Amino acid sequence: MLMENIEANLNNNKRVALHTLGCRLNLSETGSIAQGFKDRGYDIVEFGQAADVVFINTCTVTDAADSTCRNLIRKAHGSSPEGKIVVAGCYAQMEPEKIAGMQGVDLVLGNSEKYKVFDYLDEEETNQIHVDKTWEFFSAATTSADSHTRAFLKIQDGCNYVCSFCIIPFARGRSRAISVEDAVIEAKKLVSQGFKEIVLTGVNIGEYEQASGEKLHHLVEKVLAVEGLERFRLSSVEPNTITDELLDVLKASPKVLDHFHIPLQSGSDEILKAMRRKYTTADYKKIVGKIMAAFPNAGIGADVIVGFPGETQEQFDATFNLLKELPITHFHVFPYSKRKNTSAAKLDNHIHSAVKKDRVRSLLMFGEAKLNLFSEDQVGTKTKVLFERRNKAGNFEGYSSNYVRVQVESDQDLSNLERVVLITSMDNGKLSGQLIQ
Ligand code: SF4
Repeated sequence: MLMENIEANLNNNKRVALHTLGCRLNLSETGSIAQGFKDRGYDIVEFGQAADVVFINTCTVTDAADSTCRNLIRKAHGSSPEGKIVVAGCYAQMEPEKIAGMQGVDLVLGNSEKYKVFDYLDEEETNQIHVDKTWEFFSAATTSADSHTRAFLKIQDGCNYVCSFCIIPFARGRSRAISVEDAVIEAKKLVSQGFKEIVLTGVNIGEYEQASGEKLHHLVEKVLAVEGLERFRLSSVEPNTITDELLDVLKASPKVLDHFHIPLQSGSDEILKAMRRKYTTADYKKIVGKIMAAFPNAGIGADVIVGFPGETQEQFDATFNLLKELPITHFHVFPYSKRKNTSAAKLDNHIHSAVKKDRVRSLLMFGEAKLNLFSEDQVGTKTKVLFERRNKAGNFEGYSSNYVRVQVESDQDLSNLERVVLITSMDNGKLSGQLIQ
């Protein structure tokens, strides 16, 4: 009797499929929205499975991101022809009409409106567009409705910088942020949901003070003090916003993982100037030096744009050589992508796509070689790993403190457990080790 009821109930539950493109900020936002669906009795199904609602949280940082979004919309319509398709986020904010005109799209929600999806879902009307520029701060964080082991906690949104290649300030508006008090409340919620690791995220978290009137290092200090939190990371931080006070707070806590993401964009000062970045290569070297002094075995990731308008071979070589000189371990390489309304789009001397492709390929290959060298250097060392799940080989896998994938053999279920591992070998870019604690 009981089983029938459950099955009957299961069948009656509405089903939602969610998909996120782009950054960790988007991931944290989908996490909160997924929880909202769950709280309303929806079952969350894999994207691509038939669903009553399909929610796509989009990105528009490059042309490629836009076309990926369109492909996903087509895929959603194919797998859920009867379902309601909701397209939200940055691409929806920038191209609402274009998206609303695509087959099967029912709702187009901008970055502020996406949180109100439940208000619009019950309305019969299709092709609805809700995109505004009110730019309120909506808090968001990964939830247990998500399949993530690490929790992304949104502390800031929008950006007041005007980097000449970037569309984000148009898609996400002016900088705004959560208060320290509310951030601590959100962090405590995440720990009570069983999350061991929190990653603070935003568009430009280094702008936290300008947006909130409170110090970022104070927020970090308070979040680190949350009982039960075991691991802490910052997502991407602009180099010019990393203060000595912040580094001191990070250095002082054993919960802080030695992994940083510091966008570089170019190794040429002329190009950095044309990009309207707020630092020089000398500044960048200095901040990387300070991080390495505080965290000698740190993994450092860097965003790099190649093929910015006018970029000469010499200027590209300057980027290549700076990445060779500095202890950058994780390269995130993007071909320059012309974005409507940005000032760089109006520049002359746009680089031929074949040249861009070549430059991207050579940097990616070099980046892979550097990450392999960095990983090899970890053999023989001990690291704290937060295990996620078993991989295809049946071993448990997770990230080391300095952001390298590590696997161990274990009969015990290590899901969402942090353990100390002695790294014993490296195969195909993946580290293997033994549990020692
Ligand atoms: S800091 Fe620059 S690149 Fe980053 S979001 Fe703001 S405008 Fe874009």
